[in-house]
Amino acid sequence: MKIHEYQARQLLADARIPVPAGRMVETVEDAVAETEQLLAAGETLVVVKAQVHAGGRGKAGFVKLVRSVDEAREAASFMLGNRMVSVQTGPEGIEVNRLLVAAGVDIEKEYYVAVTLDRSRGVNTLIASAEGGVEIETVAHENPDAILTVAIDPRTGLEAFEARALATRLGFHGRQIQQAASIMQRLAGLYESTDASIVEINPLIVTPPSEDAPDGRVLAIDAKFGFDDNALFRHPDLQAMHDPTEENPAEIRAQESGLSYVALDGTIGCLVNGAGLAMSTMDIVKLHGGEPANFLDVGGSATKESVTEAFRIILGDGRVNGVLVNIFGGIMRCDTIASAIVAAAKEVGFEVPLVVRLEGTEVDAARRILEDAKTEIPTMRTAGDLAEAAALVCDAVA
Ligand code: GDP
Ligand code: MN
Repeated sequence: MKIHEYQARQLLADARIPVPAGRMVETVEDAVAETEQLLAAGETLVVVKAQVHAGGRGKAGFVKLVRSVDEAREAASFMLGNRMVSVQTGPEGIEVNRLLVAAGVDIEKEYYVAVTLDRSRGVNTLIASAEGGVEIETVAHENPDAILTVAIDPRTGLEAFEARALATRLGFHGRQIQQAASIMQRLAGLYESTDASIVEINPLIVTPPSEDAPDGRVLAIDAKFGFDDNALFRHPDLQAMHDPTEENPAEIRAQESGLSYVALDGTIGCLVNGAGLAMSTMDIVKLHGGEPANFLDVGGSATKESVTEAFRIILGDGRVNGVLVNIFGGIMRCDTIASAIVAAAKEVGFEVPLVVRLEGTEVDAARRILEDAKTEIPTMRTAGDLAEAAALVCDAVA
């Protein structure tokens, strides 16, 4: 599960990581009112930021620095009135319903810091770079040496001396070192205590020197958090941060029926049982020149109802011009799938080619059900094995 920046900022602040003051708003009027308050409180710079579960907002024009209520009104109207298209959204962009209005800061330098699991080493790892602000993928690609990592010992957490050494290597100096080190330690603690899959601050910044902070201040001004869905049951406070409007509606429907569904860009709808089989089905579709429209694992305990819902979701995707059903009946019974195909045909109709490959438990009963329904589902073909099924469906949509 992902959360918004304004929510992540709250978690950072709760963990005593310094974050500029700000508030989430949903209307232009509230954005203006919040800007007014910040200016009245002595801030000279305010930042208006789209709150969406996608990055690259700065470059897309959805992070704006303003100095007056008029500028704030203009920025807020633009963001709430236009879809945001960034490198992370796809060309159709996403709707913006929430904004963060926060105190803006002057920036001396931007850093990157994150904690995530290094799967190859099996250990939580702090990742940091003095080349912050930009996308870390770009840094990793163009200048991999600029990325520093520290494996976090699960017995001790990130230790103070490790954090200070890293801060020094990153180029923090003077009083910045202790501030940056504390932030990194607290961030590692937050990652652990929230069962996060990633906590990322980009950028972590240093402000220019001032009278009361001669070495500047270290602050987090953007944060992206992801949590392990399997651990959410023990974090009701995090669950409450869930924003369903940021999710693909088809994926939510699928979740409610216990289906694992991920929408993709292709044209061949796939209905499969088992994550491994679903992956290999997608591979073999691609091998035959097709593009999968989705990943869909109906799971082992699927019912006729949930499988019918799966067909509704697949056929509800306007780009789908062929459907491939690939079931290996283990716990799942092939006749359940066959009945669901017939039910879905009655209810939604298969106007696009349908290729079915069934094997395993109750396959004979399933074949009889499909045989009897052949006239009802004229677009249906059955296949003996997976390669044949993939070839048939790719041919049908070509
Ligand atoms: P992202 O593009 O979605 O990652 O959004 P960010 O919140 O990281 O903002 C993008 C960039 O805008 C940052 O890297 C900064 O360079 C700039 N920016 C964001 N907030 C401020 C601010 O308060 N003051 C200044 N001077 N620049 C900011
Ligand atoms: Mn950022």
